Amino acid sequence: MGLNRVYDLIIVGAGPAGITAAIYAARKRMDFLVLTLNVGGQVTFSSTIENYTGFQYITGEELAAKFYDHLKQYNFDLRMEEALRVSFENGLFHVTTDNGDYSSRAVIVATGRRPRELNVPGEREFKNRGVSYCATCDAPLFRGVDVAVVGGGNSGLEAVLQLIKIANSVYLIEIMRELKADPILVEKARASSRVSIWTGTHVLEIVGDKVVKGMRVLKEGEELFLPVQGVFIEVGSTPNSEIVDFVEKNQWGEIIVNCMCETSFPGLFAAGDVTNVPEKQIIVAAGEGCKAALSAFRYLSRKR
Ligand SMILES: Cc1cc2nc3c(=O)[nH]c(=O)nc-3n(C[C@H](O)[C@H](O)[C@H](O)COP(=O)(O)OP(=O)(O)OC[C@H]3O[C@@H](n4cnc5c(N)ncnc54)[C@H](O)[C@@H]3O)c2cc1C
Repeated sequence: MGLNRVYDLIIVGAGPAGITAAIYAARKRMDFLVLTLNVGGQVTFSSTIENYTGFQYITGEELAAKFYDHLKQYNFDLRMEEALRVSFENGLFHVTTDNGDYSSRAVIVATGRRPRELNVPGEREFKNRGVSYCATCDAPLFRGVDVAVVGGGNSGLEAVLQLIKIANSVYLIEIMRELKADPILVEKARASSRVSIWTGTHVLEIVGDKVVKGMRVLKEGEELFLPVQGVFIEVGSTPNSEIVDFVEKNQWGEIIVNCMCETSFPGLFAAGDVTNVPEKQIIVAAGEGCKAALSAFRYLSRKR
């Protein structure tokens, strides 16, 4: 499986960072391979995007399709395989997937992030049986019922705004006293009579039998039962950086890069949400993907 071929570059991930890196790599006529679990990354989870320059309003699905259409103009090799490990041996990088091993002279890690778990009893038991981490994907399954969203940041509020169009009522549960989301999103949620906002509230347990039946919470010292059929967990995310263990990372596991997307290991570059670059946004990830590809090109040119 790719045993004898040595690529110039392997790009792991095809979100905005990986796709943009691939477009630039193609335009530089690099011999590269993209390994990914999906095309579009977290963009496909976003219902509406209003902050990507050139588009006043676009859905995540549409933007991801546009990214991919752009990339498809070029000749490239993309495989839907999960990268399990990146290693370096005998002067080459090796990316091990669930399907084989691939070698290259340089690598860009653009694996983004995944949702963080709440870590309460019942959460794992009822995953996909009422517990969801993606309102865009699963909201239509909760038509006409009562649901809760846990987490008062931007993704929590975005989930609430999607769910009020579908569910009967939505409880927004936030452990802190204040919501951290952008005021514009909070104002929209407050304007709906179907939304109840509970701040200073801890989730104790998600309960049910075959599916979710409710949630035990602690609100200002009082234990309450919320009879909901859906629980959307939106409490942040964690970087998909475990596949590489020989580069410097920060305390959150984000790969540390400089302004050229170089990691602490020469030839290994990283871009987008998996890195310590502070703003986790589509436009930032795309820009970082561009920088990573151009840096990889420069690195390979110097080596030759
Ligand atoms: C609900 C939601 C709404 C959002 N709304 C907005 C918004 O309105 N505007 C905005 O600017 N940003 C928004 N964001 C943030 C934005 O989506 C991210 O900042 C951006 O997608 C990051 O791009 P990325 O390419 O770094 O990573 P990702 O988009 O996470 O892509 C990572 C890619 O890596 C692949 N991958 C992961 N692990 C592996 C592996 N081991 N092997 C192979 N492939 C792997 C994945 O399949 C995916 O293709 C939103 C995020 C969420 C969750």
